[in-house]
Amino acid sequence: MHEPGSFSIGSPAANADRGFLESPPADVRGRRIRYVCMPGSPYTGSTLLGSILNRHPACASIGAATGLSRIVELPTYHCSCGKLFTECEFWSQIADRTAELGHPVDVYQTGFWNTQLRVSRNRLVNVALVRSLASNWLNHARDAVVGRMNGISKAVSDMGWNTWALAAAILEKTGKTALVDTSRDHQRPKYLANHPQLDVKVIHLIRDPRGTSASMMKNMGLDVAVAARRWKWYNIEADRVRQYVPADSWMTLRYEDLCADTTGVMDRISDFIGVPRAPMPEGPPEHEQHIIGNPMRLKALGEIREDRSWQERLTKKDLAVIAKIVGPTSHRFGYDWP
Ligand SMILES: [Zn+2]
Repeated sequence: MHEPGSFSIGSPAANADRGFLESPPADVRGRRIRYVCMPGSPYTGSTLLGSILNRHPACASIGAATGLSRIVELPTYHCSCGKLFTECEFWSQIADRTAELGHPVDVYQTGFWNTQLRVSRNRLVNVALVRSLASNWLNHARDAVVGRMNGISKAVSDMGWNTWALAAAILEKTGKTALVDTSRDHQRPKYLANHPQLDVKVIHLIRDPRGTSASMMKNMGLDVAVAARRWKWYNIEADRVRQYVPADSWMTLRYEDLCADTTGVMDRISDFIGVPRAPMPEGPPEHEQHIIGNPMRLKALGEIREDRSWQERLTKKDLAVIAKIVGPTSHRFGYDWP
C-alpha cells in the first residue's frame, strides 16, 4: 500500500519539485502515470475528444474522472457498454482494485467521487479555501496560508491518491498507458500537477464562443449573456492554471481544428502525451467502451464534423451580446471574431 506522501498544494511550476517518490516496483504502482486533464468550458467537444482518445491503443478514458453527476439515477443509468452501470463488471473491478491499491473510490456514488477536491460541504467555504478566487494575486496569497493547514494539505493529498488509484486501476484493466480525464474542472491540473506518481499533461480544449454559447443556451437553458460569461470565465480560469504546469505539458487546442484535421491533431496529441502515433479508429470499437457522462458518449464515432448549428440558432442580437462580453478574450484564444 502506498503512503499518501505529502506534496505541495499547487505552486507555480517554476518552483515545483516534480521528483519521484521512491524507487519503482514492478507493477503499475511504481510507474508515473501519464494523466491528461482537459480543463475548459462545457460544450466544447471534450466528450468527443475523450471518445476518440479512448480508441487510441495507448490511451484510456472513462469520461470525467470526477464521477457520476448528481442528476444520475443510478438504478437505471447505463454505462456506454450498454449494461446497467451497477451491473457492468468493468466498474465493479475498478472499484475493487482501487481498494486493493489502498485508496478506494466508490464509483457508485452519484454527485461526488473522492477523486474531487472537497474540503467542506459548504460551497462558499470550499470556494474560499481551494477554488479560484479569480485573481492570481489572491490565489497565491490564499494558497500560502491555506497550504500550511493540515486538513487542507491532507485533502489535496487524498484527492491526488484517489485519482491515482482510479487511473492505475483503469490502466491495468485496459492495458493502456495514459489516462484521459475529460473533466472540465479547471482546478484539477493545479492540484494534480505535483502528485509524485502522476505525469500531468493538460489539453485546454476551447471552442468558438458563438458555438459554445449556443450549445449552452440549448442544452442548459441559459440566457445568452449568462452563456457568454460562462465561456469567458471557464476559459480564463483554465488558462490561469497554466502557471502550475511546465510549459511543455500544456497544449491549447481549438475544437474547430480538431474537426478540420482530426488525424493531424491526433498525431500532435500523441506526440504531446508521449505515446506512439496511431491511425484514426474506423468502424465500431474493437473493445467495449465504459464511458460515463452526457448522452454524447453513447453516440457512435462517425465522421467528425464541426457542429455549426449556432449559425442558424443565434440571432443578430445574440451575436451582439456575445461579442460585447467575450471581445478581447476571444481574440486572446485565437478567434478572429468579433
Ligand atoms: Zn460498462
